[in-house]
Amino acid sequence: MRAVMYHYVRTPDPALPHLRHLHTDDFVLQVDHLDRTEGLARAEDVLAWLDGGGPLPSGAVLTFDDGLVDHHDTVAPILAERDAWGVFYVPTGPYRSGTILDVHRIHLLLGRLGGADLLARLRAAAASEGIDLAADDRWAGRYVHQDDRPAAEAKRILNYEVRDDDRARLLDRLEADLEAEGVADRPTVDDVYVRPDQLRAMQDAGLTIGSHAVTHRVLARLAPDEQRAEIDDSFALLDEATGGLPWRTFCFPYGGADTYTDVTEDLLDAAGSRFGFSVDPRPVADDDRTHRRQSLPRFDCNRLPHGAARGA
Ligand SMILES: [Zn+2]
Repeated sequence: MRAVMYHYVRTPDPALPHLRHLHTDDFVLQVDHLDRTEGLARAEDVLAWLDGGGPLPSGAVLTFDDGLVDHHDTVAPILAERDAWGVFYVPTGPYRSGTILDVHRIHLLLGRLGGADLLARLRAAAASEGIDLAADDRWAGRYVHQDDRPAAEAKRILNYEVRDDDRARLLDRLEADLEAEGVADRPTVDDVYVRPDQLRAMQDAGLTIGSHAVTHRVLARLAPDEQRAEIDDSFALLDEATGGLPWRTFCFPYGGADTYTDVTEDLLDAAGSRFGFSVDPRPVADDDRTHRRQSLPRFDCNRLPHGAARGA
């Protein structure tokens, strides 16, 4: 069994020429390729394996992070045509706060401006706000494999290096500048995320809704109580939105091995999560069931045939 991770799945949007996304046509080709070559796993087989009542399933588990509108509008119908299962990991913060998560504000800025323009604007905004962008060696390894160096640097600074309050100030500044220049209005929550009633419809159609925390912060950087709140509050909102989750599953924001700890995994066990996903490009092994069920490995779709992202 192997899990595959998707984010944006859509056709190109002229307003966001640099947004990295999997083209809908490539998604269809990849799903059909996986179905033909290894099959698609079923929820009941995965749960039976985890409970010790069945063998490690073969086939791919398709997972979709960030609760994006693409998942309801584009992905769910494609899966329905194939009677295929998917797991959708939703960050719940935007439903309560009414604001888009910083990580997606960054994607939208990058998608609109491209890496070089965003990085230049970011440095100028930091200078005028008095925010120091000195590199932090702990995060030097993030995004090193991405070809667009300025985009990688902008994401590393914003996602990992600056403090949360500084990031919010910088994003406010960058968005305000674009609005003032007449380039783009500020996007709304409904522009970016699946609505709660649509989550319920997806669950009713046999898809699985899981938690991707509340605020999509790096959990390893939070105190245990804050991590517990991220987990418990997100599941509570999803229970409310869907009319009750039949069972719980979770995936770590960002998902690399340095973004969660043993504490996080223990908290997920305590919250009743049946399994969770990290980002680690290898198939799921049988002993993952006992050793790391809350951090099962997962491939980015771009490592598999037809999975290359389009856009810079
Ligand atoms: Zn995410």
